[in-house]
Amino acid sequence: MITRRRWLAGAALAGLYAGAPRALAAQDGTLPWRNWSGGLVAHPAGRVAPATEDELVAWLKANAGPVRAVGAGHSFSPLVPTDGHLLILDKLSGLLAHDPDGLRATFGAGTRLGDIGPALAALGQGPLILPDIDRQTLAGAISTATHGTGLTLHSLSGNVRSLRLATAAGELLDLTPEDAELFPAACVSLGALGVLTRIELQNRTAYRLRARNWAQRTEEVLEVFEASAERHRHFEMFPLTHSDYALVLAIDETDDPIDNPPQSPEEAAAFAQAMASWLAVPPGERRPLVNGLAEQIEPTEVVDESYRILSNVRNDRFNEMEYAVPREAGAACLREILDTIARERIDVVFPLEYRYVRGDDLWLSMDEGGDRAAISVHRSAAFDYRPLFDAVEPIFWKYGGRPHWGKVHSLGYRELAALYPRFGDFCALRRELDPRGRFLNDHLRRLFLAEGTA
Ligand SMILES: Cc1cc2nc3c(=O)[nH]c(=O)nc-3n(C[C@H](O)[C@H](O)[C@H](O)COP(=O)(O)OP(=O)(O)OC[C@H]3O[C@@H](n4cnc5c(N)ncnc54)[C@H](O)[C@@H]3O)c2cc1C
Repeated sequence: MITRRRWLAGAALAGLYAGAPRALAAQDGTLPWRNWSGGLVAHPAGRVAPATEDELVAWLKANAGPVRAVGAGHSFSPLVPTDGHLLILDKLSGLLAHDPDGLRATFGAGTRLGDIGPALAALGQGPLILPDIDRQTLAGAISTATHGTGLTLHSLSGNVRSLRLATAAGELLDLTPEDAELFPAACVSLGALGVLTRIELQNRTAYRLRARNWAQRTEEVLEVFEASAERHRHFEMFPLTHSDYALVLAIDETDDPIDNPPQSPEEAAAFAQAMASWLAVPPGERRPLVNGLAEQIEPTEVVDESYRILSNVRNDRFNEMEYAVPREAGAACLREILDTIARERIDVVFPLEYRYVRGDDLWLSMDEGGDRAAISVHRSAAFDYRPLFDAVEPIFWKYGGRPHWGKVHSLGYRELAALYPRFGDFCALRRELDPRGRFLNDHLRRLFLAEGTA
């Protein structure tokens, strides 16, 4: 029997396979590429998906044109769009090798982060850190210094122990920390130095985590944030806009049995429904409504394997701006952003995110040189993000922020050179490894070429 729902599903599929691809195809026959949020579109001349490193090297040697490696397309900044070729590394994925004594494992560059946890668990290992979601590829994630939360925890790039890079000329370079002029550049390189094919990660023994969520007044959380971040393995908050409250998340190790029942569809939809109802009220009148809901939120606790706790699912599409400010400037910067959103009555209901990341010494890591507070603002993909991001970005600059490479920002060569001590060295290395600039697109030219340089 065909129910109404099955009919609708069938009709949608028919549309996908019949009309949609034709409608999507550009006039020259190429299929467009879109990022996760849908805000970025490109019309690449072609797509290449090598099945082996040899195939990749042969293709790089045989073709001289522009090319951009793509991971899972989860960046909000235009790192990937190209009218040259898109290089898809999905076939270079999976566990390749492991070191049981050193608790390390090597994965193909195209491995999704979500496949790493189960593969490590089978070896008795666990990931040191994961970001909020795990759909990204390993190469894509380290290329932008993707991070999680924790004062003792580096970004994923900080946990790389070795990697292999295919250069523009098709040469394979095996890099370790001993390669002092290449390794710290290659660990966060935005696909500008070459194509990563395999990455070795430092892990630890497998472990379980307990996550506790609750709502609390933002000012109360900020007052004890330092102590809380030191006490918990992970501690972060999601301040609600036009409100006095934040959602708080603390995660710690535990040996307790797994207790992580699946959310009911009603629970999963509750927050999105609340945000939709807030949107119906003008921003200046929203505070009592949001505060009222926050006061009703019951604390929750779940226990599960580390990789199932560290990453979540984000069903609602959005665009995001994130800057990493020096840790000691974080609270003041966050307060100024929340005040600005309230004072200017900016119509945003998505919570912010506030978390600490441990400092490292990778040339283009946002956390290079010391611990940072990462602060994110989000705008639903259905709305223009500019009014929010334009109001907030100068506040990040005022507090010495560095933009997340994978998220929306407006900085170029001159500003970035002032933010990163080794920026000039990175640009020189890029020129040396890719003298013809085949790995550049318009966005990367803006980042890495001095104004006026062809
Ligand atoms: C819902 C959502 C949640 C997110 N949560 C977090 C978070 O918690 N923390 C955080 O820090 N970030 C977060 N991000 C940002 C995201 O992790 C980064 O933008 C990441 O770079 C995306 O990885 P990707 O695999 O999609 O790569 P893409 O976006 O496809 O590419 C990113 C960069 O990697 C390069 N690249 C990809 N593969 C290769 C390769 N094989 N060799 C060389 N270069 C390559 C690309 O050229 C590009 O420059 C989030 C993004 C979304 C959409």
